[in-house]
Amino acid sequence: ALTAGIVGLPNVGKSTLFNAITKAGAEAANYPFATIDPNVGMVEVPDYRLDELTSLVQPKKTVPATFEFTDIAGIVKGASKGEGLGNKFLSNIRQVDAICHVVRCFDDDNITHVEGRVDPLSDIETINLELVLADLESVDKRYTRVAKIAKTKDKEAVAELAVLEKIKPVLEAGQSARSIEFTAEEMPIVKGLFLLTTKPVLYVANVAEDEVSNADENDYVKQVKAFAETENAEVIAVCARAEEEIAELEDEDKAEFLEALGIEESGLDKLIRAAYYLLGLATYFTAGVQEVRAWTFKAGMKAPECAGVIHTDFERGFIRAETVSFEDLKEYGSMGAAKEAGRVRLEGKEYVVQDGDVMLFRFNV
Ligand code: GDP
Repeated sequence: ALTAGIVGLPNVGKSTLFNAITKAGAEAANYPFATIDPNVGMVEVPDYRLDELTSLVQPKKTVPATFEFTDIAGIVKGASKGEGLGNKFLSNIRQVDAICHVVRCFDDDNITHVEGRVDPLSDIETINLELVLADLESVDKRYTRVAKIAKTKDKEAVAELAVLEKIKPVLEAGQSARSIEFTAEEMPIVKGLFLLTTKPVLYVANVAEDEVSNADENDYVKQVKAFAETENAEVIAVCARAEEEIAELEDEDKAEFLEALGIEESGLDKLIRAAYYLLGLATYFTAGVQEVRAWTFKAGMKAPECAGVIHTDFERGFIRAETVSFEDLKEYGSMGAAKEAGRVRLEGKEYVVQDGDVMLFRFNV
């Protein structure tokens, strides 16, 4: 499964946020094959469409899509020098698909800041620099190799060398490679380099409880946003401490707590959805009387591959899919009525499944 890794300097609120994630955790009963790793927290992806489908179909059971967060351990400073725990930090980041970078944006004299003052930009820089240095080492090594081959006019090597030459000065200037615009031709080459600073990143601004309703006005958050723009990254403001409490509440109490905080949606829910879309994930639904369920696929996947998310047999024996968009199903109220209105389509192997499609797969076994 795809996973987003939580990173950040000490004392910024990582553990607090990760606790909120595990407390809010998906009910294991629905996911018997889920990994049992204390560093992995599985959450349900909040989706109003699933709730509406449930009231429409009244199934015996509703199963949301899930998403995984990984708590990344290890020491940050000096990590790129490859010392002990620092090394582990980098190799853990290497394994995640996206990065949730938690940044301290709350003042609290009782909680020591490792650098002695709250300064989100310098915090971001500290971590990013380690990643940049690690990438620079990879790029330098690769450069020496590829430059030799490129002398023979080998086409692939020449193309890769050009990409390396584009990335190198940016890293040398201490900036992440994600700030570079790559062409469609360059993208596969960039992917093949497996750099840390090209992974999609979401900055999580951890703000004080009384700031969360108006986080956009918070000066720390403003700084983080301005920085994130320079590297095409996104920012989400949460109050980790409040999220930890919210995660333990029942729905009704949760709504009350959110109202008291002056926000409509919990920060954790916002974070889950943002991380989900950051990874290019999308959702389709199956809606039967036994079970209404949300399934995760990668945006761009075709119908057979999406069927394979449910079971490999579905992909192998795929014939076609009866498809209706969530919006249409909602408008007409039932599959039958949507069919009569001509809103249910028969789609074949080449159909690119859309976020929000309700699917019924036909297949040979
Ligand atoms: P970590 O080292 O990044 O994992 O940080 P922790 O999650 O252990 O948090 C460090 C300290 O900051 C703990 O005492 C938390 O209770 C506190 N903390 C975390 N989030 C918030 C917050 O939103 N507001 C305030 N005031 N304190 C927080």
